[in-house]
Amino acid sequence: MTEPAERTPLGCFEVLARLDAFVAGELDGAELEAVRAHVAGCRNCESFGGYYARTIEAVRRLPPSTESAAVRRRLLAGFGG
Ligand SMILES: [Zn+2]
Repeated sequence: MTEPAERTPLGCFEVLARLDAFVAGELDGAELEAVRAHVAGCRNCESFGGYYARTIEAVRRLPPSTESAAVRRRLLAGFGG
């Protein structure tokens, strides 16, 4: 059960399950792009709830290439967390 996320289109549940990690800057390039690709055209996610709707709006406002998340992830890994 180790499907590569970048090869699998994400469903709403999978996207919402990743939003916490997204906010924490823990998603790498492929996963980040998968989340962004989904929420860009999904009204279900948009209307899911206040907290998530605001998060998704933030996702949509991100520039196409966001390296800061990957950098932050490496920094966190360096601190053991
Ligand atoms: Zn969705």
